[in-house]
Amino acid sequence: MHRPSRDHGRAIRALCADLTPDACTTACPPTLPAREHAQCLIDFRFADDSEALDLARALYARTGVLPGVDTTTSHGTYGGTPIATQPALPVGDDRQHLAWLIASFERYEQVFAILVARAPRPIDFRLRPDAFGFFRTGTQAYPSAWGQGGVVGYNLDGPLHTNERDVLETIFHELFHLNDERRGGWSASALGELFEGIVRRCGRDDGCFGDFAPHDTRVPNGTYYPFDEATRDVREYAAELALRYFREHEAILDGTPLEPPFKCGSEENRVAWERLVEDFFGGLDLSRDCAAGPSAPRGS
Ligand SMILES: [Zn+2]
Repeated sequence: MHRPSRDHGRAIRALCADLTPDACTTACPPTLPAREHAQCLIDFRFADDSEALDLARALYARTGVLPGVDTTTSHGTYGGTPIATQPALPVGDDRQHLAWLIASFERYEQVFAILVARAPRPIDFRLRPDAFGFFRTGTQAYPSAWGQGGVVGYNLDGPLHTNERDVLETIFHELFHLNDERRGGWSASALGELFEGIVRRCGRDDGCFGDFAPHDTRVPNGTYYPFDEATRDVREYAAELALRYFREHEAILDGTPLEPPFKCGSEENRVAWERLVEDFFGGLDLSRDCAAGPSAPRGS
């Protein structure tokens, strides 16, 4: 006899949040061992779509991440507009998202296997959430995703979720939020002052923000996502910085480094990059020295 554990509770929260408690307990008694219990709940929730079920099973089997629902009815406002959301599983035409997520985790693992082997100290960055909370907004709307409390919320209608690459980048950004939270709000203490300095200096100057933006995500009709008045937040700056770290290292390992490295753009960029590298990525920075200049493309 197995007693319900924290893992049972987590699986029930992820996979049964939009059902009555009885429905899930009847289908999958919490007396099952934790892993069988989670698998049973996945089978139960994806029973109507065998292709989606195979993908949901594969996601859980390979990564331990639960494919669940997000029952939050609204994610506040985005640029002043309240957004209504509803829980939704990635089935039918939406099952493709599961395949993209599986591919994203595989890619993170490939890249980090090399980084972990080369880092001078242990890398302290979790590459998986506990669960996904899928939801939809009905029409294409932000947020595309959120990351909190070990869960990544995933909008099936998110504008950033229309191809595998964008999903990979969005989810990495959200994974940083989970790691930032796990580390007690690292971004505010490590980068808060630096971030405020950039905001003060640039004011409303989009071009100025461009020099400090680690990634090209922008608010529609606004400026770069971490700096726009509607979304401005040091946590977003830090998440975009972490994504930049991933993109630069992935590109270096592929032999096609991004030029110029982010850290070479300004003193602020260098300081932020170094703090991130030290505190999350084991002190490993494979990007070139700023003084060195770009190396010739391979083969030329
Ligand atoms: Zn974010």
